Amino acid sequence: MRIAVPTETDAGEARVAATPETVKKFKALGASVTIQRGAGLGSGILDAEYEAAGAELAATAADAVRDADIVLGVRRPGSELAAIRPGAAVIAIMDPYGQDAALAALAHAGVEAFAMELMPRITRAQVMDVLSSQANLAGYRSVIDAAAEYGRAFPMMMTAAGTVPAAKVFIMGVGVAGLQAIATARRLGAIVTATDVRPATKEQVESLGAKFVAVEDEEFKQAETAGGYAKEMSKEYQAKQATLVRGHIARQDIVITTALIPGRPAPRLITAEMVRSMRAGSVIVDLAVERGGNCELAKPGEVVTVDGVKILGHLNVAGRLAATASALYARNLYAFVETLIDKKTQKLAINPDDELVKATCLTRGGAIVHPNFQPKAPVAATVEPPPAHAEPAAAAPASPPEQTAASETLVAAPSPIPEHVPEPAPAAVPHEPVPPPLHETGAPEPIAHTEHAAPLPEHVYEAVPAAVPHEPVPPPLHETGGAHEPIAHTEQAAPVANAEPIPIETAPAPRLDAASEPVETSEEASTDGQRDTPANP
Ligand code: NAD
Repeated sequence: MRIAVPTETDAGEARVAATPETVKKFKALGASVTIQRGAGLGSGILDAEYEAAGAELAATAADAVRDADIVLGVRRPGSELAAIRPGAAVIAIMDPYGQDAALAALAHAGVEAFAMELMPRITRAQVMDVLSSQANLAGYRSVIDAAAEYGRAFPMMMTAAGTVPAAKVFIMGVGVAGLQAIATARRLGAIVTATDVRPATKEQVESLGAKFVAVEDEEFKQAETAGGYAKEMSKEYQAKQATLVRGHIARQDIVITTALIPGRPAPRLITAEMVRSMRAGSVIVDLAVERGGNCELAKPGEVVTVDGVKILGHLNVAGRLAATASALYARNLYAFVETLIDKKTQKLAINPDDELVKATCLTRGGAIVHPNFQPKAPVAATVEPPPAHAEPAAAAPASPPEQTAASETLVAAPSPIPEHVPEPAPAAVPHEPVPPPLHETGAPEPIAHTEHAAPLPEHVYEAVPAAVPHEPVPPPLHETGGAHEPIAHTEQAAPVANAEPIPIETAPAPRLDAASEPVETSEEASTDGQRDTPANP
């Protein structure tokens, strides 16, 4: 049994589908592994390391995949598809939505194509969940990117030259990426608030030491689907949410948005007006930019500055941590491939009735077999493999929600919203299908929705412990016997609104034995209900 790993061809893709660690594991399963020369360089893995792990090297992608039983990729294959033998398993993040021509090419090549992002979110498949492994890293990286662009410090610092207030960070959307963003921002010492429409997230946010901010009305109580995902909220809820967000966002230094709804464009949560309400030097990171964006002014693949506010629209954010992302993705792949191999015969033995295979298999025996991606019209037999970069398409951004009058209230008044909130339309032709990720197309604007784009199905979701990042935020030093007591945060100490420069108060340098001295810890002073990180000596 031969496993091949060609080099990724997309210019923005530094990840690789196998690491020396997984090469060794595949060898232990009885497979031989061929890696295209240079495939690991973007992730800091040298050819020699693959060789040392037992891999053979091939000069070209075609040489690597020829005669392979399994081809592993980060993205679906490009021109090397022509060299893959019919019947081989091709496993990657296939991004199949609205990609009819690409799916037809996979079918035409006769390969058995598997989309890792369709892996059901069940206990057995958690180790194969690429959405989680990559979103977790994207959430982390979004905070690091924000910190790099932010011209101020994250933690509160009491120095001889004065006190620097902690940065205020607001996370919008608390799924896998959002939870990791909260944990990362807290580790850096920021004062963190977060919002989501799913009530289950409130406890998760608070368990990470952040404050939950949301319109908690009747609709909110029913906003989580049976699948564990968010519903598209009513216009009335969106208006109330916008009012809440408008008041809150003007006082934030960093906003990180991660909100997604299966089968829909990303909800528009930050308007141009809200961006302009933030003070110059603030930073917004839009992790949903590939799905239409949560921020009206975010541009895919660009960093734009509007009235001094930087808006980061990086694509493939997990790929900005290529080495770690590759390590986790390669393990996800290994765990799945292991289920496709008969350990006794050491041969590929795909069971089409396995729930993991059913959920992820796109093509088999020359046909598209996944029920969600059946072509609407017969596809011509002579379909060419798709180019690595599709042509840019016309822009079709989602409309922002209606806005209503501003309010400072954090808890909503009783709502006139009806009890029943309709689920996203399950029809084959949704009104607003999700655009394909823009890194696939290189288009500078969101992609026009196509008639053929299938709605994103919800993953099968088993109740498992919440996806709270495994590494908890370290407790403040006063809980660990550290040298310094945390200093109570005050709203006044933090930068206020737009115009004022950060107040730098003159304060004596803290003594190293300060833990023994009384420190102000009043709840009144700590309006965010959070402890700040210890002061710097
Ligand atoms: P996602 O990427 O689909 O969405 C990100 C977040 O955006 C979600 O928390 C969603 O509620 C939120 N959101 C949507 N609309 C919003 C709006 N208008 N305003 C504010 N927030 C909004 O989410 P995800 O990270 O894929 O996680 C989805 C679910 O899957 C969660 O319940 C998570 O715990 C669960 N999950 C389960 C497993 C498993 O193995 N069982 C693994 C990972 C995640």
